[in-house]
Amino acid sequence: MIEIIRNASIILGATLLRYFFIAGVAFLFFYIFLNKRFKTGKIQAKVLKKKDIIREVLHSCQSAAVFTGITLLILFSPIKEYTLIYDNVNDYSYWWLIISIVVSFVIHDTYFYWMHRLLHHRKIYKYTHVVHHRSINPSPWASYSFHILEAIPEGLVLLLLAFILPMHIIAISLFTIIGLIINVYGHLGYEIAPKAFRGTVFFKIVNTSVHHNLHHSRFHGNYSLYFRFWDRIMNTEITDYEKHYDLLQKKRFPNEKA
Ligand SMILES: [Zn+2]
Ligand SMILES: [Zn+2]
Repeated sequence: MIEIIRNASIILGATLLRYFFIAGVAFLFFYIFLNKRFKTGKIQAKVLKKKDIIREVLHSCQSAAVFTGITLLILFSPIKEYTLIYDNVNDYSYWWLIISIVVSFVIHDTYFYWMHRLLHHRKIYKYTHVVHHRSINPSPWASYSFHILEAIPEGLVLLLLAFILPMHIIAISLFTIIGLIINVYGHLGYEIAPKAFRGTVFFKIVNTSVHHNLHHSRFHGNYSLYFRFWDRIMNTEITDYEKHYDLLQKKRFPNEKA
């Protein structure tokens, strides 16, 4: 029992530290210290309200507790025996360590898209996803701001990955850290993509902060997490997304030719 409490405390501590550090650094930079410098990149003109930040932080702490429970189940219960998680890096190659992280994002994106579509079903939405959508003008603190009934399926992606993809604990940790950094970027409230990004093939593949911000301000469309793939296939991408993105980037880089 003491062992379970010890492991739970370590995982909860690490999850909260990850959240407060990554969201906190983004918040300090963009909303406190350098808000004037990044002014033109602000996606919505609205000012953040203190009560929204408090709600986002409290719900995120609750989600961190749920994620801790799921992590404990995967790493420290008899379930681990049946997962594909491996402890020795040499069981697979070092290349696989990197490839497994990339593949985990593709799997997560697919899982998230369909789970997110389901959460928007009118009979489910009001009991679950409505909490996340109370952040109409999201801040970095909204990254884990979910109803407890949404936090469970959000966290269960780890269980799915553990059963279908051989991952080392380092790869799992990096997946959660990089995933949160991308999530914080999606809820940043500012666009920070460099101007040259628009002309690359990656613009057509990956999401930007404007992409997810539009999901928050319009409630429907742009359901994907990392990639534009599923929204484009399922015709759920907000039609004027690129127009919005271009307008904002023009504001950020007024003196540069398109
Ligand atoms: Zn949504
Ligand atoms: Zn969101």
